[in-house]
Amino acid sequence: EQLANQIAAGEVVERPASVVKELVENAVDAGATTIDIAVEEGGLQLIRVTDNGSGIQHEDMEIAFSRHATSKIQSDRDLFRIASLGFRGEALPSIAAVARVSCVSSAEDSGLGRLIRMEGGKLTADEHAGASQGTDMSVSDLFFNTPARLKYMKSIQTELGHISDYVYRIALAHPGIAFSLTHNGGSLLRTRGDGDRLQVIAAVYGTNTAKAMIPVQGDHPDYDLQGFISKPELTRANRNGITTIVNGRYIRSYAVQQALLQAYHTLLPINRFPLAVLEIGMHPGLVDVNVHPSKLEVRFSKEAELREFVEHVAGEALGKRRH
Ligand code: ADP
Ligand code: MG
Repeated sequence: EQLANQIAAGEVVERPASVVKELVENAVDAGATTIDIAVEEGGLQLIRVTDNGSGIQHEDMEIAFSRHATSKIQSDRDLFRIASLGFRGEALPSIAAVARVSCVSSAEDSGLGRLIRMEGGKLTADEHAGASQGTDMSVSDLFFNTPARLKYMKSIQTELGHISDYVYRIALAHPGIAFSLTHNGGSLLRTRGDGDRLQVIAAVYGTNTAKAMIPVQGDHPDYDLQGFISKPELTRANRNGITTIVNGRYIRSYAVQQALLQAYHTLLPINRFPLAVLEIGMHPGLVDVNVHPSKLEVRFSKEAELREFVEHVAGEALGKRRH
């Protein structure tokens, strides 16, 4: 079991940002409206995620750290069929296999909670603890027992870059959740959680950028789209500023990017790219995860149709501005 956890950990826990992703997705799944993320030394020393979600039932806490005991869904195909971001139930046991984890959680607002500590997959503490409803997960000394893996870690700035990139996207995907991110105590992001996506764009990219965004909205028998795209005057050196969200899940889609770039065709100088946050809703049967769910890549069953739709909606929004 311990070996299985370490093998799974190799897949699930690639770097500190993967831990942040799994913990934050669990908090989102738990219905949290506030999610605070604190990291130290690029997440290698500490990753702490605190949420005000449903909490973990007292008796479920140990189970949550056991492999495959908890999967919210049964197969990868189900991934887009349900609202939850979690899958497989292997994140927590995998993380606990390669770090020191401390979890305080309470499923009731009585101030009663439970504290569990795990080190390298072994339970080292299990006691009552005062806690308000929600979950407080601390992951410290990541890869302390897998030195080979630790050696692969890049600089603190690089690891932090992966973490903040992920947190920015999940905050953009969930404007109704108040996120905060700090690194070594310094604030990197704070969103209000009032549902205003433009405010999240301002928090991530700055107020001037937010002012240079155009709202987009479109409907189609198979899709609906809403979000913001930048005025052609506001350009970037790469496509990292394009955030695609499908059914509440942040994904990477070359098809959507290409469609958007097509809409900007002739409007942008060569090798310049727009900024965009596109939220696309579709029947879950029209989208499939490709290869590995945690890798963010997906496959659309009607890709050409989707491309045309995205290009049309974005093109309309850009065209309207000219008149
Ligand atoms: P999965 O998300 O696939 O179910 P995880 O290993 O990520 O598997 O989490 C195991 C279980 O622990 C979850 O199914 C959930 O019941 C519980 N859990 C983990 N984190 C939280 C949280 N922040 N709030 C409430 N429950 C949580
Ligand atoms: Mg999970």
